[in-house]
Amino acid sequence: MDCMFCKIINKDSPAKIIFENDRVIIFKDYRPQADTHLLICPKKHYPTFLDTPPDELAYLHKVCGKLAEYLKIENGFRMTINNGPQGGQIVFHIHIHFLSWICDIGDKKIELELD
Ligand code: AMP
Ligand code: ZN
Repeated sequence: MDCMFCKIINKDSPAKIIFENDRVIIFKDYRPQADTHLLICPKKHYPTFLDTPPDELAYLHKVCGKLAEYLKIENGFRMTINNGPQGGQIVFHIHIHFLSWICDIGDKKIELELD
């Protein structure tokens, strides 16, 4: 399948990965629009928000919450999902944009406690 984010997940394409487990990967957006601009993706390929099962979306939301707590930016982050070509979606592998202007995560890997 010709999916850029699946290639990153399979390590066939480079990315600044800051966290991964068997279900999710977090890497830096290569065209950042904030001091911290991360993309949170399920490892399983679902093209859009509307294709993604609710339990998978709930897990992605949980990851975002843990990430905000880990970075201590509970008071300053934004999450965005673009859905469909006219919603600004360019990469058709569901992802949440996680942005913050109050911290710069740098390139370090992080550890998140997830079930
Ligand atoms: P969207 O418009 O929601 O589909 O967002 C796609 C995002 O992925 C954009 O912000 C791009 O800058 C980013 N992006 C695309 N390809 C890569 C890549 N290979 N590595 C990191 N970020 C990427
Ligand atoms: Zn994919």
